[in-house]
Amino acid sequence: MSKKSPHSTPDSVHSERLPVNPRAEDAARSVFVALGSNEGDSTAHLTQARLFLQEISSSPIRTSRVYQTEPIGPSDNDFLNAVIHIDWEGSPEALLDRLKEQERIQGRPSRYPKWTSRTLDLDIIDFGGLILNNDRLQLPHPAAAERLFVLLPLYDLAPEWYEPVTKKAISELIHQAPEMRIEVGAWQWE
Ligand code: ADP
Ligand code: MG
Repeated sequence: MSKKSPHSTPDSVHSERLPVNPRAEDAARSVFVALGSNEGDSTAHLTQARLFLQEISSSPIRTSRVYQTEPIGPSDNDFLNAVIHIDWEGSPEALLDRLKEQERIQGRPSRYPKWTSRTLDLDIIDFGGLILNNDRLQLPHPAAAERLFVLLPLYDLAPEWYEPVTKKAISELIHQAPEMRIEVGAWQWE
């Protein structure tokens, strides 16, 4: 880059061409993905989903403990829940597409009533602190602030995390969250 002239005015500083990083959009984002399963062989589904997340992450993943939780809604089966940290090089929409595809590969019909049993649910909880609200994506995920089955595994990985919109600390959110039955699972990752 050319040296700034000592006489340059603020205007001319602004009109200087800034260095462009052609890969800026590809810079890895720190992402937390929540996993849930309460249908079929849930431990196998979590194991397979974890391998998938390792494949799409540009660095080694970090994995929370697995929790067993009561289902919310009409379903009878307990859930297994966990959170995994990945580094993702791409847009949030591209990540959502990959997660939806993996849900489908692991046996989840593409049109699925909300709140029912599922072989695999993969949600983007936090995408590098990005705040987004469109037809397809809400970031951070609304469950991040209020559901213990997201907050407790997230706390395993990131006790310093705070909710990007309200800036509330995760420990405070955990204290405020509605009670539910949740315990560390008998099964943990192999
Ligand atoms: P839920 O996870 O809320 O039980 P689904 O998994 O069926 O329900 O997701 C329904 C839709 O939620 C998805 O098709 C997706 O477009 C949308 N969605 C909005 N925000 C997010 C997010 N942060 N992560 C994943 N899906 C999201
Ligand atoms: Mg989902």
